[in-house]
Amino acid sequence: MKNLVIAIDGPAGAGKSTIAKIIAKELNINYIDTGAMYRAVTLKCLQNNINIEDEAAVIKLAKETEIDFRDNNIYLDGNIVNEEIRSIEVTSNVSNVAKIKEVRYLMVDVQREIGTRNSVILDGRDIGSYVFPNADYKFFLIATPEERGSRRYKELTEKGVQVKLQDVIDDIIKRDEIDSSREFAPLVKAEDAIEIDTTGKSIEDVVNSVLNRIK
Ligand code: C5P
Repeated sequence: MKNLVIAIDGPAGAGKSTIAKIIAKELNINYIDTGAMYRAVTLKCLQNNINIEDEAAVIKLAKETEIDFRDNNIYLDGNIVNEEIRSIEVTSNVSNVAKIKEVRYLMVDVQREIGTRNSVILDGRDIGSYVFPNADYKFFLIATPEERGSRRYKELTEKGVQVKLQDVIDDIIKRDEIDSSREFAPLVKAEDAIEIDTTGKSIEDVVNSVLNRIK
C-alpha cells in the first residue's frame, strides 16, 4: 500500500506540533517535527561556539552532523536533545540557521527519506510547498500573533522559564519575518493547502477539522 503523507505548515505557535502529534496517534502513523531538526543543528552550532553569521562554518558543521527523529525523540549525533533544543537561545537563532540553503538540503534529504519509507505526518514551514509537493493532504494552520504568543508564553512559564509576554510575541513575529522572507523554501501556504485559523479554537476542534478532511 502507498505511504500516506500529511503536511502541516504554518507560522510559529499556530498549534502545528500539538495537532500533528494527536493526528499521528489517531491514524497510527509516524510524526516528524521538522522544526526540531533545524533546532538541533542550531544547538550544535551554539555548543561549538560557531558564529551563526558564518554560513560556511554552519554548513561545514551541519554536514558533519547526524540528525534523526524517531519515536517522538530528536537525536543529535545519537543523543536525545528534546529539552535542549527548546531553549530561548536556540529559538532566537534557529531562523538564521534555517535560512541557509545547504542546511535545508541536508534536512530535507532526511525528511524525504523518512517520508518515503513510512506513512508520516510532518509539521514545518515548507512541507507542502517544497519537501512533499505531492503530499496526500496539506494543511496550513494560522492564528493571530497575540494568540500564538500567549500559547508559547503559557508553555514557557509552566516550565518555570521567566519571560515577558510581549517579548515572546515579538520573537514570534521576528521569526516569522525571517522564515517568510528567506530566498529558498520560505514559509508559505501551498496553493492546494487547506487553511485553518486556530484562533479561539480548542485543540479538539482543530483536530476534528483536520480528521474530517482526511477520512
Ligand atoms: O516549528 P518550530 O517553531 O520548532 O521551528 C523552528 C524554526 O525552524 C522555524 O522558526 C524555522 O526557522 C525553522 N523551520 C524551517 N522549516 C521547517 C521547520 C522549521 O525553516 N520545515
